[in-house]
Amino acid sequence: MEPKYVSLEMRDYITGMGAETLNWCMQCGLCTNLCPWRLVPGEISEKFNIRHMQRLGQMGMEGFEDEQVLFACSTCSMCQTNCPRGVKIVDNVRGMRSSIVGAGMAPANLRPILGSAHAQGNPWSGPREKRTDWQQGLDVPQFDGDKEYFLFVCCHSCYDQRSTKVAKSITRLLQRAGVSFGVIGAEESCCGESMRKLGDEELFQKLAQSNIKLFNDKGVKKIITTSPHCLWTFQNEYPELGGEWEVIHYTQLLEQLLEDGKLSFPESLGKRVAFHDPCYLGRHSGIYEAPRKLLAAVPGAETLELTRCREMSLCCAGGGGRIWAEVPMGERFGELRISDAVGKGAEILTTSCPYCLNMLTDACNSMDKQEVLEINELSEILAASLA
Ligand code: SF4
Ligand code: SF4
Repeated sequence: MEPKYVSLEMRDYITGMGAETLNWCMQCGLCTNLCPWRLVPGEISEKFNIRHMQRLGQMGMEGFEDEQVLFACSTCSMCQTNCPRGVKIVDNVRGMRSSIVGAGMAPANLRPILGSAHAQGNPWSGPREKRTDWQQGLDVPQFDGDKEYFLFVCCHSCYDQRSTKVAKSITRLLQRAGVSFGVIGAEESCCGESMRKLGDEELFQKLAQSNIKLFNDKGVKKIITTSPHCLWTFQNEYPELGGEWEVIHYTQLLEQLLEDGKLSFPESLGKRVAFHDPCYLGRHSGIYEAPRKLLAAVPGAETLELTRCREMSLCCAGGGGRIWAEVPMGERFGELRISDAVGKGAEILTTSCPYCLNMLTDACNSMDKQEVLEINELSEILAASLA
């Protein structure tokens, strides 16, 4: 239902919380047609319309009644690519969510997530001291001011058992190439990217300030991120808070090392592989070639492209805090990716983001396709191809 009254005070609040382009929207609706919610059936799909949401914000949230809809956007940025007014739709969504979360009305399913990030510095309910458990059995160097790079491992790859393999593979690749790097460990906090997208500005500021002080005190100059979400927030949101470093995604660094002849992948894969472009690596950060060049360097990796790829890649649905959402089977974006990959004859669907890995694996398992399609992270393919 379209709202009828405008709350000017609330509209100003939302604008001040990041929705600076809210009033540029002229309600043409071009954004709505590009949204992946148009590709799946179900209750959320029927209710969620990003054009309506822009209008809701313009009206100062008058008429707001469904938190499920407000928190449905995965911040994939697809809709923004087609807006004739250049509306920063994702920032507007963030501003709107702030008006709800900032008033202490975060959806019930998100409260433990936000609470864990407040108390433990990560959203996965993991004790702070266990942040380094993934390193067991490995000789991971500690960062000191003399190391060239600080390796920032995403919380997901510190605490989620499956995802720890990503941190281990990246470590192995960096060590093989002789990169000077180190980790800090238990003092690190979540980058806060998802927390900010969920509208918890206070929590984001707390996490960011804690990291900025820690990294600067330790003498960090260059950061390698394992996740495109950490990459994006360090590059785009930390500088104005005092965190200014050279930040690079691991695929970018490995591509450089490959070109410099410091890394090679002699072991043959012998499989057909499709690459899923993560939204925060691709559309948000413009990195499309690095993962493809790395994959092309693996002998026996027969690469193929998904129908929606690169700038038009289809979101896995894990961004914007959606990784913590329960979505019924048959309504998940990831299922479209699995169908596409299987239909094209891929034997492996790989990606380079821990959230995508999680969402695609869930979709593959729920569709019972794990016998025909392996889901993995690019670093795992690369590490397995080292001699
Ligand atoms: S495409 Fe842009 S101007 Fe058109 S409805 Fe969407 S946000 Fe508004
Ligand atoms: S950012 Fe993605 S999920 Fe959100 S409204 Fe735009 S297209 Fe839909």
